[in-house]
Amino acid sequence: MSEECGLREPAGKAAVITVGTELTEGLRTDTNGPYIARQLSRIGFTIGETVSVRDDADEIADVVRELTRTNALVVSTGGLGPTHDDVTREGVAHALGRGLHEDPGARALLEHLSMKGESASVRQDFMRQALVIEGAELIKPATGTAPAQLVDTPAGQMLVLPGPPHEMQPLLEGFIARYQSVQETSIDLSVFGMNETRVMHVVQPIISDVDGITFTVLASAKESHVILADSGCGHETLASRAQRVEEALGDVVFSHSGETLAEVVVHEAVRQGVTLATAESCTGGLVSGAITSVPGSSDAHNGGIVSYANSVKMGVLGVSPQVLATVGAVSEECAQQMAEGARRALGTTYAVSTTGIAGPGGGTPDKPVGTVCFGLATPTGTRTYRKVWRGGARADVRARAVSFALDLLRRQLFGLSLERR
Ligand code: AMP
Ligand code: MG
Repeated sequence: MSEECGLREPAGKAAVITVGTELTEGLRTDTNGPYIARQLSRIGFTIGETVSVRDDADEIADVVRELTRTNALVVSTGGLGPTHDDVTREGVAHALGRGLHEDPGARALLEHLSMKGESASVRQDFMRQALVIEGAELIKPATGTAPAQLVDTPAGQMLVLPGPPHEMQPLLEGFIARYQSVQETSIDLSVFGMNETRVMHVVQPIISDVDGITFTVLASAKESHVILADSGCGHETLASRAQRVEEALGDVVFSHSGETLAEVVVHEAVRQGVTLATAESCTGGLVSGAITSVPGSSDAHNGGIVSYANSVKMGVLGVSPQVLATVGAVSEECAQQMAEGARRALGTTYAVSTTGIAGPGGGTPDKPVGTVCFGLATPTGTRTYRKVWRGGARADVRARAVSFALDLLRRQLFGLSLERR
């Protein structure tokens, strides 16, 4: 099969098949399906279905037969490993009426990988990964073991990907990169600090006179996404309206390229050569966790103190017993002393603190569940904030608090407004 098979127009319908008994029985959550769907819709495919199927060659064959008849692209993930329950190759080959053969290149690649000390039967199983569907193009993995396979189908093509997300993602990205000549068909603005209704009111007038542009707001406790998609308006119109939307939303937009809040904060802190610290109560280390999830964060993040108990707030961070006795741990005074204590103890340019009532218990009329206080300590002083997010579950309150704390750092780093919001 020629290289050209990946260069067809990415128009039309696509479907995703996730293979694994662990998925159909609910032992694992399918994260690959949504990921693949998102990537395919980015380059213009309409995703009609995502189907999960057991590790059973006949059932896989049935699903593949049906979906490849009507979809320009079918992508499967899972069941390409070396064990006896990995039967996707067999199922796909059967559905498409093709044989399986051992690919010498794939075999050489696998032999390269360390199988020292393994028994003959283990080696034999391992070599099953060199089995290729007749006529398929092999896409070599940068990581992991199982290569992807791209094969022609009655209505277009099928891409057969491995299951482990860290193996699947680079292979899919390699495939998507073949469509580079195609313009992005949607633009995703990441927003924190403006509610969904207000976002709608800002965006609607800017796009109301355009035909062929669709607009969605995906809101969550953590952040919102304003997604503008080209449904006929053309790339230039999409890009220019998206720019106007971004300008109108203002500094609540923290990314238009998919960066997370933590990534925006870390990248800017590293660029400026400043250092960060956290002092966390109700978020229990999640702010530090978000920061340290970004590769390279050690160049800016000195560390964090999880000061859950008052004794730690006092003993480690220097919060005064008076503050705790009078206004309590969930107070702007306490948040201030926590942030200043962390900045001092960890010797950083900036420090951010969280202290609040995540619920479900512990609320009072004065301090209902969802009350969270924050401190932002800087070389020129400390600002404090008090937010009340009513009606949220514990996880939502904590997720909002993490984003709010990161957003304070972002605002500080970029010189944006730090007024009470
Ligand atoms: P497999 O090659 O299908 O046996 O998959 C190996 C491992 O990859 C599984 O045990 C899961 O941990 C992971 N995996 C497979 N499919 C998915 C999926 N759809 N979503 C998330 N993880 C998956
Ligand atoms: Mg499996």
